[in-house]
Amino acid sequence: MLIGCPREIKPQEFRVGITPAAAHEAVAAGHQVIIETGAGLGAGFTDADYRAAGAAIVETAAEIFATAELVVKVKEPQAVERRQLRAGQVLFTYLHLAPDPEQTADLLASGVTAIAYETVTDRWGGLPLLAPMSEVAGKLAPQVGAWSLQKANGGRGVLIGGVPGVLPAKVVVIGGGVVGTHAARVAAGMGADVTVLDRSLPRMRALDDMFGGQFKTGYASAELTARLVAEADMVIGAVLIPGAAAPKLVTRAQLATMKPGAVLVDVAIDQGGCFETSRPTTHADPIYEVDGILHYCVANMPGAVARTSTQALGNATLPFMLALANKGWRLACAEDEHLLNGLNTHAGHLTYDAVGKALGLPV
Ligand code: NAD
Repeated sequence: MLIGCPREIKPQEFRVGITPAAAHEAVAAGHQVIIETGAGLGAGFTDADYRAAGAAIVETAAEIFATAELVVKVKEPQAVERRQLRAGQVLFTYLHLAPDPEQTADLLASGVTAIAYETVTDRWGGLPLLAPMSEVAGKLAPQVGAWSLQKANGGRGVLIGGVPGVLPAKVVVIGGGVVGTHAARVAAGMGADVTVLDRSLPRMRALDDMFGGQFKTGYASAELTARLVAEADMVIGAVLIPGAAAPKLVTRAQLATMKPGAVLVDVAIDQGGCFETSRPTTHADPIYEVDGILHYCVANMPGAVARTSTQALGNATLPFMLALANKGWRLACAEDEHLLNGLNTHAGHLTYDAVGKALGLPV
């Protein structure tokens, strides 16, 4: 099969859909791989790296959209890309169609078979192609929070781990899922005094089994959340209610109870944010202040570490990409219900219930 990977054109996106390692595996399995020139540069992969892996470099994205049977990307296709998609072609990428009627209409009009990373499932009920990005964002959260706490950046001037004779920073992580667990591990590793709040008792039991001693867990009642937020140097928002906007767990009024120069890191900003005063920011201008409290609300945190993120995503997508290429999408999806769950559009039909419900379209 001819597999193609164009350069990402969404602003601030530095990841790439196929790594040289993945290209190498696809070529070894007997497929042809074409990569747009420069597609990997943002993640530190040169055209020479791809050539060494057995891929061919093409000059334009248009060549890829015109010829590839399977197009592998990172972000949802932008308008100019959507115009080049066609029936009989398989698109494998993040789509997030539910809030995006325009993209959905274009994909349906194109007839493309679109398989969305974010709706592929695994046998444990997880989302294996979202998890790597949550791992990255979680591990990044204490790092960006620590930077925000530095005086020159407007923060309290507190060192996360303290030093002998000086207490460490207090870090509260709200939501103990994939993001929260990775954030808590890193914050604890930096020497912080960490508490994870969640509303799932099974989740807190699991965390306690795995990490008891490294950080504490607490039930995320409004009362305990308010008390710990008031004492915190850093609060990391990492909640998710699948399919819904994030609940607002810290109000503007509560900011007045917090220590001046403390930082809120709202990782859940891509779902609307879990602090009332959160609004999306960018890597170019990541933090702002409200009532003396710093806010870090970058909606695509993994982009800051594009190389690590590309490799993590590539590891997760590779087996599915190979299945699609080796078997064709029909057989691959027929044999794997979890990949089938990724199918969002085919030949002008919407094939994913939640998107149909969100947009009021027939499925
Ligand atoms: P997850 O499902 O693994 O974990 C969410 C956790 O939140 C669960 O343990 C759940 O029990 C808990 N929760 C739900 N409601 C709660 C409440 N009211 N109080 C306390 N805990 C509550 O999800 P995840 O993969 O960890 O993702 C967390 C958030 O991070 C999502 O909104 C996701 O979209 C976002 N995210 C953002 C970025 C970014 O770049 N900003 C990157 C990756 C993920």
